[in-house]
Amino acid sequence: LRHAPSEVKELAQTFNMMLSRLFDAWEQQRQFVSNVSHELRTPLTVVVGYLQSVLRRSTNLNDYQQEALETAASEADRTVRLLQNLLELARADSGSMHFQMESLVLNDLVAEVAGMTEKFSDRLVTVKASTEIEAMADRDRLKQVLINLVDNAVKYSESEQPIILKLERANRQAVIQVCDHGIGIPLQEQTRIFERFYRVDEARSRMSGGHGLGLAIVKTLVEGMGGSITVQSKPGQGSTFILTLLT
Ligand code: ADP
Repeated sequence: LRHAPSEVKELAQTFNMMLSRLFDAWEQQRQFVSNVSHELRTPLTVVVGYLQSVLRRSTNLNDYQQEALETAASEADRTVRLLQNLLELARADSGSMHFQMESLVLNDLVAEVAGMTEKFSDRLVTVKASTEIEAMADRDRLKQVLINLVDNAVKYSESEQPIILKLERANRQAVIQVCDHGIGIPLQEQTRIFERFYRVDEARSRMSGGHGLGLAIVKTLVEGMGGSITVQSKPGQGSTFILTLLT
């Protein structure tokens, strides 16, 4: 009460001005990341294309040349994927990511992702579902989410350890679980893994080829579809990512 109303008003104005400046700075940063990613992605995609074409067409490369070209191609490809992920997150931040929501039978989609993984990674992926489960989702986005989670299950477990995709209905919601019996995640890291660029063990994770953006994108996509994602895990025993969607 000791403050005159004009002082309070002034304070509110200053606060609003600070907020608006902060928002402008954040928006500029988002634009910058988006523009840089876009400008780099195009030429780098050309580089990857040429390197792969040289590798395919050359029959007389010595061991050094072969290895150098393969490393260059895979690192450039990894960077293209990083730029794609950054573009996707910048799009999400700007609120311009659109979802084509429809009522989907999840069983088919889950089976499709399991089949693709088995084909490309040579790993056994078991689907468990006792009934047909439907949910509201954007088909392509949900597929992207599942591929990301199953890819991680493959990366962070040994080849003989099973990967299971479970489908069920709970409290009028659809639940998809992606379970692995791999290295697991320590309790204190379990919320942090959804942050951008966060990786549990930098050295070990780097060998797996990602940049720590996969789960940040998964969370953004799932929440964009009105769902949620959590993880349950024990180091040395494995991890289960639990995806809940509206029906
Ligand atoms: P990355 O590209 O590093 O895989 P993600 O965002 O997909 O990035 O995952 C972030 C981190 O979470 C990973 O670096 C890894 O340490 C941990 N992680 C993700 N999935 C699993 C899993 N299924 N088992 C164990 N650790 C995992």
